[in-house]
Amino acid sequence: MAKRDYYDILGISKSASAAEIKKAYRKMAVKYHPDKNPDDKAAEEKFKEAAEAYEVLSDPDKKARYDQFGHQAFEGGGGFGGGGMNMDDIFSQFGDIFGGGGGFGGFGGGQRQRVMKGSNLRIRVKLTLEEIATGVEKKVKVKRKKQAKGVTYKTCSVCNGQGQVTRVTNTILGRMQTAAPCNTCGGTGQTIDNRPANSDSQGFVVEEETVSIKIPAGVVDGMQLKVTGKGNAAPGNGISGDLLVAITEETHPTLQREGDNLHYDLYVSLPDAILGSSIEIETVTGKVRLKIEAGVQSGKILRLRGKGIPNVNGYSRGDLLVHINVWTPKTLSKEQKKFFEKMKSDEHFTPKPESSDKSFFEKVKDMFS
Ligand SMILES: [Zn+2]
Repeated sequence: MAKRDYYDILGISKSASAAEIKKAYRKMAVKYHPDKNPDDKAAEEKFKEAAEAYEVLSDPDKKARYDQFGHQAFEGGGGFGGGGMNMDDIFSQFGDIFGGGGGFGGFGGGQRQRVMKGSNLRIRVKLTLEEIATGVEKKVKVKRKKQAKGVTYKTCSVCNGQGQVTRVTNTILGRMQTAAPCNTCGGTGQTIDNRPANSDSQGFVVEEETVSIKIPAGVVDGMQLKVTGKGNAAPGNGISGDLLVAITEETHPTLQREGDNLHYDLYVSLPDAILGSSIEIETVTGKVRLKIEAGVQSGKILRLRGKGIPNVNGYSRGDLLVHINVWTPKTLSKEQKKFFEKMKSDEHFTPKPESSDKSFFEKVKDMFS
């Protein structure tokens, strides 16, 4: 089933402010909360869907990527996590939504065990245009925190594994619940029981691991991909964080990228321009032979359909635009000079642009159409 638009899910417009997004999500979360809709699968799906939409739209960075790339921004090709949040992720979001963490009061009753997630790791991967054109699998070495061999944890006795302590105070508005992270376990709900000598205070050791990252074709400089579960470990029965991969595109020596299209400057000799020729040019997917018509004009743009970059959404492929530049030699031999001086008086060499020789502005218009 196709994923619904995040804005539609929350019932807001694309121009909604951060406050409006938060308000819309709060409404959805209350309406579809599992405690209010026990054993209602449809409500649970709506609840999860809204949480996922909020997770993206409440983060300026993720929102910008979603606005640009849609759902694809978080899914990439095979292998990327993204998508479905689990219930624990959703409940950990509530601290932010319902203010100060405790405000959710009536729901849940604190029975739900929190699952801690380890911190994310970030790396940068440099890709050539050729790698971007085909998609590539990159192996990177990352230093991840992992639970040391032999480490054991126990439930924090101060917060009973909740990671936070709740205080109830009586005010003129009635009983108010406030929650603060537990100082004893640092909010993880777990304290260390047996710590191996080589591990840090949380029972972690740093290990180097080779992680394989599948990068889909058509990624854009600055895009971020996620490899689920390849970040740092969490204590106890927590789950590992994610590995966030930022894409950097290397500058290509001859090709310039513009969205999914590529531009190439081709220099053609005067005789080739006059007599016509066949020239081999390098593209991101190999060499291509190009026919240069006799009498080609400098400034002409040849469009090679589909020889650009595939769109990251996989729906289309860009073109390669070859810009013809006729190369004029700066120096001539005596003989050559004599030849061209003779041609000077020949009317055949006087420029007579035809309507088919489009003006510069018309060409630019064509290029973007
Ligand atoms: Zn604790």
